[in-house]
Amino acid sequence: MQPSCLLCGRHPHYRHNICQACLLDLPWAQPSIVNQTLGYTYSVCALDYLPPINGLIKQFKHQRNLAAGRLLAFSLSQTISSALLEQQMYRPQLLIPVPLHSTRLRQRGFNQAEFIAQGLSKDLHIPMCKSLCRRLGDQSPLQGQNRRQRLRHMQGVFEVNTKEVSSRLHSIAIIDDVTTTGATAQALSSCLQSAWPGPLHIQLWCLARTPAPKTQLEW
Ligand SMILES: [Zn+2]
Repeated sequence: MQPSCLLCGRHPHYRHNICQACLLDLPWAQPSIVNQTLGYTYSVCALDYLPPINGLIKQFKHQRNLAAGRLLAFSLSQTISSALLEQQMYRPQLLIPVPLHSTRLRQRGFNQAEFIAQGLSKDLHIPMCKSLCRRLGDQSPLQGQNRRQRLRHMQGVFEVNTKEVSSRLHSIAIIDDVTTTGATAQALSSCLQSAWPGPLHIQLWCLARTPAPKTQLEW
């Protein structure tokens, strides 16, 4: 039997647990591509962190609902496929999921960024590498901190495995689930840039972005 849509439960799914009507109805982020000067060239966020996306992300991350995870990864790969097709961005050679600290990985049982990267790798036929970077610290950017404070807080959190560094690799995409200020990706980018022997073009591909703090207060 055809599985039904995870969101409406009424229609048969179109692909990856979502029907076509619900797929169209998702809170797609506009504009999806922002040119950044944060150590990565492009940041692509597929969705806004609004219902039903916030609920799906919570189910995926904290209750290990992998059907929700697959739906979310598919939404991101749809956004990336169109951007690649319209030549808005380069096709990277490798996907790098933001690593989790070993303690957090034990608690959660899986790395949500790695799960998303696996889905993207399958859909877009781009290899993924999870051994290029390691997370040494468990800290994440704190709420209420400005960008500079967040960056200072995140210094030294990541380490690059020098055995995996290759000058033949010059274009990668960092994969993350939710971004607020981009401080995590920025810390990882600068760690990669300083370990790299040649130029490295870095993009950030992210499922969802949270609204600016002002909007959050209004909720
Ligand atoms: Zn539906």
